[in-house]
Amino acid sequence: MTEMRLVVVGAAGRMGRMLIRTIHDMPGATLCGAIEREGSIALGQDAGLLAGTGKANVVITDDPLPVFAKADGVLDFTSPDATVAFAGLAAQARIVHVVGTTGLEDEHLAALDAAARHAVIVRSGNMSLGVNLLAALVRRVARTLDEDFDIEIVEMHHRMKVDAPSGTALMLGEAAAQGRGVSLKDHSERGRDGITGARKPGAIGFASLRGGTVVGEHSAIFAGPSERIVLSHAAEDRGIFARGAVKAALWGKGRKPGLYSMADVLGLDD
Ligand code: NAP
Repeated sequence: MTEMRLVVVGAAGRMGRMLIRTIHDMPGATLCGAIEREGSIALGQDAGLLAGTGKANVVITDDPLPVFAKADGVLDFTSPDATVAFAGLAAQARIVHVVGTTGLEDEHLAALDAAARHAVIVRSGNMSLGVNLLAALVRRVARTLDEDFDIEIVEMHHRMKVDAPSGTALMLGEAAAQGRGVSLKDHSERGRDGITGARKPGAIGFASLRGGTVVGEHSAIFAGPSERIVLSHAAEDRGIFARGAVKAALWGKGRKPGLYSMADVLGLDD
């Protein structure tokens, strides 16, 4: 079987370098390109040397078009605007686009929907097996418990993270809303401060902590009368997201165009 040729965009970022190391270690995939933004100091460097895997003979460039033309898939953990631009190019090249970028707003999601008419896109706010399993459990618990149980999603991440709540927290909130059969938009309660009044029945609350080098910790709390259920996940290493992303690319190869989730990749939809 020929190996899947993958491009890493945002190659010099925290996840970018982890993705390069993971492709190096995982069978079935090979690194064929690495992209950084115009003006980046990483341009011209060898991607393998930058990521610490030894020379890969892949030079980091800011020109994605010719690189995408020779690839089977692209792994994208960058920023929302960059992801939309890469989605257009990946759709043009008809290659699998794995999107790990978080903080996407409605307009970014609409652009991904449009691109998914032409190519396979796998998008998830968290690519790890554990968190996707956690989301399935949150959905199930929310389905079982009524509004007597208040749902709060709490997350903590490293001090460099730019968006809040995290993509994973929103994913868990969405799972809770699905379990309850309501829309998250109408029930989410974010950023409490000052005299907020009592908690609204049925609200799904979010709290974000930032500090240090925390890779990612999430809890879904179901607080009821005199008892509490807490479902938690702690990521200890970014490798879990990178392995999930490569797995998603391999899964997406040869599939019909569309927008897929990690639950599809892992066969977790209930
Ligand atoms: P990071 O270290 O800032 O890396 C992002 C990289 O993308 C940077 O090197 C950045 O370059 C580059 N970039 C931005 N715009 C670009 C463009 N137009 N062209 C090429 N490269 C571009 O951040 P990170 O910690 O790796 O996280 C990246 C994203 O992944 C975030 O949204 C984060 O929340 C998400 N994430 C998702 C998961 C998941 O499982 N889904 C897991 C971890 C992280 P500059 O530094 O020059 O801007």
